[in-house]
Amino acid sequence: MTRDQWGQVQKELCKTVGQNNFKTWIEPLEFGSIENGVAAFDAPTAFLGNYVSQHFGDQILYQMTAVDPQVRRLKFGVAAVAGRPAQTAPTSPAVHTPTPSAPKYALPSAPLDERFTFDRFVVGKPNELAHAAARRVAEGGPVTFNPLFLYGGVGLGKTHLMHAISWELKKSSPSLNVVYLSAEQFMYRFVQALRERKMMDFKSLFRSVDVLMVDDVQFIAGKDSTQEEFFHTFNALVDQNKQIIISGDRAPGEIKDMENRIKSRLQSGLVVDLHPTDYELRLGILQAKVEFYKRQYPDLVLASGVLEFLAHRISTNVRVLEGALTRLFAFASLVGREITMDLTQDCLSDVLRASERKITVEEIQRKVSEHYNIRLSDMIGPKRVRTYARPRQVAMYLAKSMTSRSLPEIGRRFGGRDHTTVMHGVKRIEELKAIDGQMAEDLELLRRALEA
Ligand code: ADP
Ligand code: MG
Repeated sequence: MTRDQWGQVQKELCKTVGQNNFKTWIEPLEFGSIENGVAAFDAPTAFLGNYVSQHFGDQILYQMTAVDPQVRRLKFGVAAVAGRPAQTAPTSPAVHTPTPSAPKYALPSAPLDERFTFDRFVVGKPNELAHAAARRVAEGGPVTFNPLFLYGGVGLGKTHLMHAISWELKKSSPSLNVVYLSAEQFMYRFVQALRERKMMDFKSLFRSVDVLMVDDVQFIAGKDSTQEEFFHTFNALVDQNKQIIISGDRAPGEIKDMENRIKSRLQSGLVVDLHPTDYELRLGILQAKVEFYKRQYPDLVLASGVLEFLAHRISTNVRVLEGALTRLFAFASLVGREITMDLTQDCLSDVLRASERKITVEEIQRKVSEHYNIRLSDMIGPKRVRTYARPRQVAMYLAKSMTSRSLPEIGRRFGGRDHTTVMHGVKRIEELKAIDGQMAEDLELLRRALEA
């Protein structure tokens, strides 16, 4: 493999592991050589080599074999640094051997992430339905809903759940042919079959699958012949009563440039969504991760309040949250220091800055008027009828709780109202929130929409 080819592999990896992971873990690797099927890398530290081997080994191997089919294993050593001889690490170099793959004649599944199992999936309110549905499918048994369609925003656990189903089925029914693919890989295989005139093989391979999972189906929207083939594959499997699991970034009906007959097919089973995480779930995920790290690095000390701080401050997606924690642990273990609030803020300043999105009173007013279907001018204007007054109070309440604006400042942004009017509005909504379920729900929805 040439340096150029490694560059190519790196590009693919950046896409699959995400930019943050890529920068932290893969970029620091120095590609050495390939000998007897073993690709050797130098990592700046043994920790990094071990970590990469454990977490990204399968993916690196997968991408490397696509370029050079000879590669069978990866090996991570420690790079020589001026003044320090190479390979001083007490441990032997981390070696990554691929997870055993399916028999040759079967359609190979894309590699599964070994961390994406059910026991490492933290269940909370936002994902409990999706989790329950995934569990149900993973039990095997008669197919009750087909397909299972999971959807939700980036980094909320769709891929994790799909891999978990796959791991579970492999364990309980090793003879089943369970295939997990991204929609992109589906398309790639399809195009390749067309090019090599192997459509018959393609069709029969896909039709011999027992459980098919296609991740990120929105990818094939607008790609007409791939959609068409997907539709046929899908129907053939459903006819044979084979379980299908699909994920997407939005509900089937909302996917643009997707044929209607496919949309309605995708809706014909069970459709469940993963909601944006809430604070409790984020904290739970962090705690679970820490438990796990503590087993690996028993000496690390974590100051109290750090996890709460992260769960509070990083609300974008779980991938970012995890990346932040991983970086923190890696850093602390490298420098041998306790993880304090100060260390956290130093080490994660870029992540924290990026997720520090200030919500403005104007944004709140816009969202709230959209939600209640009134005009922005009526929300800010003088009209006092309930249809406008209530949404106005809701917006005041959110402005008070989600921004750092003072009551007089908020009043000014609501057509120059007095601060006592704002205070009254905020109080009224607080009261309603406690007794009126609909109001509590509206507030929660709006808050989420604004934080997204
Ligand atoms: P998606 O496919 O929805 O974009 P992923 O399944 O890739 O998201 O999840 C992103 C990262 O967050 C993964 O590392 C995954 O393990 C983690 N993650 C997401 N949700 C959870 C959860 N509920 N419990 C534990 N880890 C989670
Ligand atoms: Mg995914």
